[in-house]
Amino acid sequence: NTRVLTGITTSGTPHLGNYAGAIRPSIEASKLSSVDAFYFMADYHALIKCDDPQRIARSRLEIAATWIAAGLDPDVVTFYRQSDIPEIPELSWMLTCVTAKGLMNRAHAYKAAVDQNVARQQEADDGITMGLFSYPVLMAADILLFNANKVPVGRDQIQHLEMARDIAQRFNHLYGQGEDLFVLPEVQIDDEVATLPGLDGRKMSKSYDNTIPLFEGGAKGLRAAVMRIVTDSRQPGEPKDAESSHLYTLYRAFATPKASAQFRKELEEGMGWGEAKEQLCTTIEAELAPMRERYAELISRPDRIEDILQAGAIKARRLSQPLMERLRAAVGLRSMS
Ligand code: ATP
Repeated sequence: NTRVLTGITTSGTPHLGNYAGAIRPSIEASKLSSVDAFYFMADYHALIKCDDPQRIARSRLEIAATWIAAGLDPDVVTFYRQSDIPEIPELSWMLTCVTAKGLMNRAHAYKAAVDQNVARQQEADDGITMGLFSYPVLMAADILLFNANKVPVGRDQIQHLEMARDIAQRFNHLYGQGEDLFVLPEVQIDDEVATLPGLDGRKMSKSYDNTIPLFEGGAKGLRAAVMRIVTDSRQPGEPKDAESSHLYTLYRAFATPKASAQFRKELEEGMGWGEAKEQLCTTIEAELAPMRERYAELISRPDRIEDILQAGAIKARRLSQPLMERLRAAVGLRSMS
């Protein structure tokens, strides 16, 4: 079976982009009998971007409830909280010790932070933590610990996955004694899955505070957020360029190809932005409404989610503990057994 692994950072309230880009496709994949799915709440990753403990805790609950409300079956998926698996930071340290610093210097997320500092005429590394610098190593540990074969990612993450392969190869070479300790993971890019724009036109992202929340705020909140999406100044009656319109990108993520073609045609024929926003709301709402009730019920019972996550951690550690024993022995640390 193919092992598929994916995580969501617990840095804020889950949004339409997380849903269309990660949650919905991950649930579809988990239903295939040829797939063993490993899905997790990336709360160690959240510490890199967020120093608000309450936000992290709340986000973890919201993301877990969202995944389950959207149809994840915890009996089928290995569904866990990253921080419940102590083998992850342990492996992360082992990998850190075989990772070239030069490799991390080239990581996009780090380079983007440096470029921003330079553009602002600050010191290159101002405000950049070791967490941000070495986060591709933590990501490699997430993946390698479960010997995942396929990691569905957005295009911006391809480089980090290549780094995970590099690190795995180096580790295998140093310590494998002719045998591979790690499987080399492969990226899985789904061209059907678009990157959804946020309210300000940048990528919708928890840390940009530009999101349309999935369930928080209810149907009313969804509508209010859609009404705030930035559009150009074309008036009703004037033809619109669908391709460059954020509304069209969002609409396509929730509608059938046929409905999308119709929406596009109407925009090109001069449908007003107000009307387009109404149609967008109706389409998104049709998909989310049935899940919203389940979400509300789940979020009101954190104890039940806690039970699910505890059971998930046990299931995950049944795999991670024996592998770590092997790795400890391979590098010359004491075996814990
Ligand atoms: P953060 O701001 O903390 O990075 P994020 O909301 O950008 O958070 P992540 O938690 O890093 O998202 O990503 C979780 C999953 O959601 C990933 O698979 C990612 O590709 C997907 N995802 C995130 N934002 C979008 C988006 N705007 N459109 C499509 N998919 C997205």
